[in-house]
Amino acid sequence: MRAEGIETVRRILCVFPRYTSSFGTFEYAYPLTDGVQAFMPPQGLLLIAAYLPANWPVRFIDENIRPASAEDFRWAEAVFVSGMHIQRQQMNDICRRAHAFDLSVAIGGPSVSACPDYYPSFDYLHVGELGDATDELIARLARDPSRPAQQVVLKTDGRVDMSDFPIPAYELAETRKYLLGSIQYSSGCPYQCEFCDIPGLYGRNPRLKTPQQIIAELDKLRECGMTDTVYFVDDNFIGNRKAAVDLLPHLVEWQKRTGYITRLACEATLNIAKRPEILAKMREAFFVTIFCGIETPDPDALKAMQKDHNMMVPILEGIHTINSYGMEVVSGIIMGLDTDKPETGDTLLAFVDESRIPLLTINLLQALPKTPLWDRLEREGRLIHDDDSRDSNVDFRLPYEQVVSAWRKCMEVAYEPEKLFARYQYQCDYTYANRLKVPVSPEMKSWANIRRGLIMLRNIFWKVGVLGDYKKAFWKFALGRLRRGDFEGFLGSAMIAHHLIMFARAASVGQQNASNYSIRLREASVPAE
Ligand code: SF4
Repeated sequence: MRAEGIETVRRILCVFPRYTSSFGTFEYAYPLTDGVQAFMPPQGLLLIAAYLPANWPVRFIDENIRPASAEDFRWAEAVFVSGMHIQRQQMNDICRRAHAFDLSVAIGGPSVSACPDYYPSFDYLHVGELGDATDELIARLARDPSRPAQQVVLKTDGRVDMSDFPIPAYELAETRKYLLGSIQYSSGCPYQCEFCDIPGLYGRNPRLKTPQQIIAELDKLRECGMTDTVYFVDDNFIGNRKAAVDLLPHLVEWQKRTGYITRLACEATLNIAKRPEILAKMREAFFVTIFCGIETPDPDALKAMQKDHNMMVPILEGIHTINSYGMEVVSGIIMGLDTDKPETGDTLLAFVDESRIPLLTINLLQALPKTPLWDRLEREGRLIHDDDSRDSNVDFRLPYEQVVSAWRKCMEVAYEPEKLFARYQYQCDYTYANRLKVPVSPEMKSWANIRRGLIMLRNIFWKVGVLGDYKKAFWKFALGRLRRGDFEGFLGSAMIAHHLIMFARAASVGQQNASNYSIRLREASVPAE
């Protein structure tokens, strides 16, 4: 479905802002690849591009790949921007540049939907999801694309049903320049973890596309060249368990039809470990990674943040179960919780060792607007506004310096090369070994694919194995994998490990700040541009 009944033609420039350096976007790994420059194609802007009237020309620029040029702005009649809180500065900068060309600029997405007052200079604020506000924005631009005399705020009351969403305009994105493909099946989450803004923004009753839509999207992603890994950006893949069960056989069939060249990844609550029937199907559908917001191994802390569902199975057992279906667990961890004690950092490091999870995004607690945490801290007078010297807006129970130095120590120790490679070694030997043995398709054997692998090998050997400064740990891991003929495990692990090691080093000496580094870069998955 797309907007209809509009005769006038308008040229729309969609600009996605740069991310600031982030743990979860893997930018230190890009130079080791064959040309990756950005993390994931933004679902939101590409969806809105597909929803615009069919006769409206659209240009899409991801500023993580290249900045919008003067020529782009001269071409456009209006500019659309979308993003998350961490891209706030960059979004305001795009607005400033567009205004230099006297263009009207509309902003949508999760950040403006939660905090419209962050964006005073935009001409149009689109608050909420794709729906009547979107139609109104299109109608206004069709009537008159020039800048309105004052800011116009459009709020969605009636949302477009997700089963009516068009396929995002993946053809506008340079898919080969992204580390991962992105796709969305559902929106919303039934839980209410204290720190999370998803239920407040997108509701507790997950809304859904149809399996047929997802298959059509996967086909299109493939046509557009995105074949490596596709990430389901759903807030919780099992937020509606029945829907997950309905979708999985379609994914299995799709993989069989297309030769298993695409790996799948998603986000889900850890209690997925209680559902062997879902895990078995996910294995069959070639899911290789699940991001679980474990947050903390401390049961009291989980209870306090209303994340008891993480304790439905013992945490380590849950991780082991997921690994036994061939899926690596990536974990979100939060420090600075009210329940933290002076020994929390050491407990966390012990958990990292025991869980053998290679990739944990360890962040300081940050209060987001529209969350129960925000409301509670506001009541308690513990929200700190406009203090750029701090890495969190929360007045922690423990002294701030103590929390930050515990975070730095955790980053430093958890990502020591020897420790990290030992965890990857385990994943290669145990988790990856449990994956489906997929047939070697002609696409996998193609010269283009082999060439990509060779380029990555060359880059990794040269930039890490020769020029790097953790050569001993690297070669020990590399030779072990290569002796077994495990090129795939080696390439993937070495590439991501490099990012983790380099980023953690910068973090541990204070060159990266300590919050908002979640891998959960959920960009406007149900857009509100
Ligand atoms: S943290 Fe995860 S499980 Fe909790 S409410 Fe948010 S999306 Fe749902």
